[in-house]
Amino acid sequence: MRDLKIPAQRHPEKAKNPDNAQPKKPSWIRVKAPGGKGYAETHKIMRDNALTTVCEEAGCPNVGECWSQGHATMMIMGEVCTRACTFCNIATGKPPEDLDPFEPGRVAAAVKKLGLNHVVITSVDRDDVEDGGAEHFAQTIRAIRQQSPNTTIEILTPDFIRCDPKVLEIVVEARPDVFNHNLETVPGLYPEVRPGARYFHSLRLLQRVKEMDPTMFTKSGIMVGLGEDKQAVMQVMEDMRAADIDFLTIGQYLQPTPKHHAVDRFVTPEEFKTYEKAAYGKGFLMVSATPLTRSSYHAGDDFAQLRAAREAKFATKA
Ligand code: SF4
Repeated sequence: MRDLKIPAQRHPEKAKNPDNAQPKKPSWIRVKAPGGKGYAETHKIMRDNALTTVCEEAGCPNVGECWSQGHATMMIMGEVCTRACTFCNIATGKPPEDLDPFEPGRVAAAVKKLGLNHVVITSVDRDDVEDGGAEHFAQTIRAIRQQSPNTTIEILTPDFIRCDPKVLEIVVEARPDVFNHNLETVPGLYPEVRPGARYFHSLRLLQRVKEMDPTMFTKSGIMVGLGEDKQAVMQVMEDMRAADIDFLTIGQYLQPTPKHHAVDRFVTPEEFKTYEKAAYGKGFLMVSATPLTRSSYHAGDDFAQLRAAREAKFATKA
């Protein structure tokens, strides 16, 4: 039995990597320590419903702030991922269990209990499951809709690269409000950062979502500080706009352990502002680009702004 708290068992494929020194965090990466009543309540709801969160599994720096407001991002389909991205703290390997048919109901119960206006649901990659978990995502969306019809739903999905392309329709037909899939980094860094994925496949996935349902908001994000240059980031923005992606997130990469990909540098808040300005200039409806931006950080407030931005755009065209 693996103990996922032990780094060498959590990431067996990284155990032999040389240690990368973890540079001291700059003054602008400061976060609220986890704790307080709201945090404890969110924690209890997650455990009572036997749910896994990406907030904990990825070691997200924002967990203190988000959980104090009940904003937990549930991670479905288990806690072991079949990929081995070099930036990610989710446990890797062969998942020990099949998909849990009762999980969608437990997620829906937790969303109701938390009283969320907007929820983000993500998952591990399940390359061992024929449809990559597409039907499980759809069932989770339907279960949330049934119990919390006024909650808007954002999903952050795997790339389904080893599945029949048709499985994407299963997820889109369940009609999430926002379909998010992260490109994570610039194409030149894929072999070392996201070796099991393909940049143009991920981009095309999001484009296909928009083709299937032009009313669905699409969203994607990258991390910076992995070794990319600014020109490559600008090109990713161009590629995303060509795929008609509405919402871009950019955040600073933080290294979970010495065995993970090294932090190349800390991007300054001023540079993030430059990216934000450039992205709006390229036509994104919504941009979140700050050192602590994560896909699901402030996702509810951002969704309200995203919807308002689309309405304003259509009103101008009318
Ligand atoms: S930013 Fe997202 S992953 Fe991080 S704590 Fe908040 S909800 Fe969880």
